[in-house]
Amino acid sequence: MLEEISSSHPLVHRYFSDLQGGEEYLQRIVGLDRYWEQIHQVPADDSILPGSALPEGAAVGGDCDIFYAGGTLGLLHAAVMAERYGYRVLLIDRHVSGKSTRDWNISRQELEKLEETGIFTAEEIDDVIVRRYRTGWVEFFVENSNRKRLYIDNVLDCAVDADRLLGIAKRKILSEKESVILDRTTFRRCYKFQDHVVVEVENHEGKTLFFKTRVLVDVMGILSPIAMQLNKGRPQTHVCPTVGTIASGFTDVDYETGEILASTEAADTSAGSGRQLIWEGFPAEGDDYITYLFFYDALDSDNDKTLLGLFETYFRKLPAYKKPGKHFRIHRPVFGIIPAYSHSGFTRTREIADDNILLFGDAASLGSPLTFCGFGSMVRNLPRLTSGLDSALGAGCLSRTDLEKISAFEPNVASMANLMKYMCFDARTDSPGFVNELMNEVMIVLDGLPGRYRETMFRDEMRLDDFVAVLLKVAWRYPRVLKATYDKLGIGGSLSFIRNLAGWALSSTK
Ligand SMILES: Cc1cc2nc3c(=O)[nH]c(=O)nc-3n(C[C@H](O)[C@H](O)[C@H](O)COP(=O)(O)OP(=O)(O)OC[C@H]3O[C@@H](n4cnc5c(N)ncnc54)[C@H](O)[C@@H]3O)c2cc1C
Repeated sequence: MLEEISSSHPLVHRYFSDLQGGEEYLQRIVGLDRYWEQIHQVPADDSILPGSALPEGAAVGGDCDIFYAGGTLGLLHAAVMAERYGYRVLLIDRHVSGKSTRDWNISRQELEKLEETGIFTAEEIDDVIVRRYRTGWVEFFVENSNRKRLYIDNVLDCAVDADRLLGIAKRKILSEKESVILDRTTFRRCYKFQDHVVVEVENHEGKTLFFKTRVLVDVMGILSPIAMQLNKGRPQTHVCPTVGTIASGFTDVDYETGEILASTEAADTSAGSGRQLIWEGFPAEGDDYITYLFFYDALDSDNDKTLLGLFETYFRKLPAYKKPGKHFRIHRPVFGIIPAYSHSGFTRTREIADDNILLFGDAASLGSPLTFCGFGSMVRNLPRLTSGLDSALGAGCLSRTDLEKISAFEPNVASMANLMKYMCFDARTDSPGFVNELMNEVMIVLDGLPGRYRETMFRDEMRLDDFVAVLLKVAWRYPRVLKATYDKLGIGGSLSFIRNLAGWALSSTK
C-alpha cells in the first residue's frame, strides 16, 4: 500500500517508509478513511437483526453477562464491571485490544474519577502519567497587536500513556476467572431476542462464532455499524479529523508547557473551499513530543477530510509549527476521526441504545465536540456509567428506554457543540481570518475573567451562568459575532442553540 501512495502522497510515503510498522499504520488510516464512503451510502441496516434471522444451526456458545465490541475505552468500563461488580465479561477487538492509535492528555483532578470506581489505585494512576506540565496555553493567529496567548493551568496538563493505562485494565479483566478477551476478532452483527442478544463475530482465522449475552456494549468508535444503523446513516453531524506524531528531535519545544490550541495561519484552501487548521503540542515521556494537526468541519462540507490527505498536509506544514532538528525521529503516528454531534433539542437527540444494546465512547459520540476529549468524558462519567449498568442488570431493566438513561450526555457539553460550529470555517460566510479573529476575542474575554472560566471551559465542566457571561462579553467586544451567528447557524441552528441552553438551564448540572 505504501508504494501505491508514493506519487499521490509523497511525504506520507517518505516518512511512513522509515517507520517501523509503517505499512500497518497506513492500513489502519485507510481503514478509518472508509468512514467517508460509509456516510455517503444508504445504511445497510444489517448490524442489528431480529432473533428470527439467526442462521439455522448456529452454534451459540460462550454465555456472558456483558459483551464488549471494541477494546479501547471498552477496556476501562469492562474492568470495573468484571472486578468491582463481578460480571462475566467478554471483550473483542478487531485489532489488538489496548493498543491505541493515540495518547491522551487530561488533568490529574479528572483522573481521580478512576479511583472512585474502586478498582484503580492512586499509584496505578500516577504510574501512567508520563509527564506533567507547569501550564498550558491557547493562541490564535491574528495579524494585529491584540494577539492574546491565554495561559491555562490544570487543563490537559498530564500526559497519559494510553496503552499502559489500558494494559492495567486488561490485566484486571483477565484476572477474573470467567472473563475473556479475544483479539483480532471482528463484530459482524447481532440478533435480538426477548431478554438477550446473540452476537456474531469473525475470528482471525475467518471462523464465524456466536455468543449469547444479556447486554451488548458497543464501543467500536466512529466506525460503529450499530451507531450507523440506529442513527439512520447519520451518526455524526460534525467531525474533527486529527493526525499527528509522537516524535523526538525538535529544536524549539518547551517540555514544561502544553500547547492546547495554536493556529499559525488563516483558513487553508488547498483541500476544498476552506478549513481552519489548528495545531496542538504536548510534551510526552523522555524527549518525546506529540504534535497534532486537526480541523473542525461539518460532515457535508466539500473539504478533503481524509486522514491520509491531512497527514500529507501535516508533514508539509510541520516545520512552520515546530522545527525538526538533525536528530528528528518519528516514533509512531497518532490519528483518528473525532466524532461530534449537535443535538437539536432540549436534551440528547442522538440514539445511543436499543433493547439489550448500549453505546459508549465515540460510538455514542457524546464527548465534547469543542475540546474533543472523549477519553476525558469516559473518565468523568465512568463511576456513573458502571453503577448505572450494574443497577439495570440487577433489576433486569434492559430495554432501550432503560439503557439510554445510562449515558455520558452532559447538557453543558451539548451546548459547546454550538461553539464548535463557529470553529468550522465556511467560505460562503467567513473571511479567511474569521475563526482566528473570533477565537482571539474569546481568549481576550477569558483573560479578563477569573481562572475558573477558562479552566472549566477547557475541562468541559463549565457552569451555565459562566458560559452566558462569556457569550455576552464576546458579543459586546466583537459585535460581528451576531451577524456571524445568523450567517453560520441560520435560524434553525440559532433556535437549536437556544434549545440546548434551555435544556441546560432545566438540568441538574447548571
Ligand atoms: C489523535 C487523537 C488524540 C486524542 N487525544 C485525546 C486527549 O488528549 N484527551 C481525551 O480525552 N481524548 C482524546 N482523544 C479522543 C479519544 O481518543 C477518543 O474519544 C477515544 O479513543 C474513544 O475511544 P473508543 O473506545 O470509544 O473508540 P476508539 O478509540 O475508536 O476504539 C474503538 C475500538 O473498537 C475496535 N473496533 C472497531 N470496529 C470493530 C469491530 N467491527 N469489531 C471489533 N472491534 C472493533 C477498534 O479496533 C478499536 O480498538 C483523541 C483522539 C484522537 C484521534
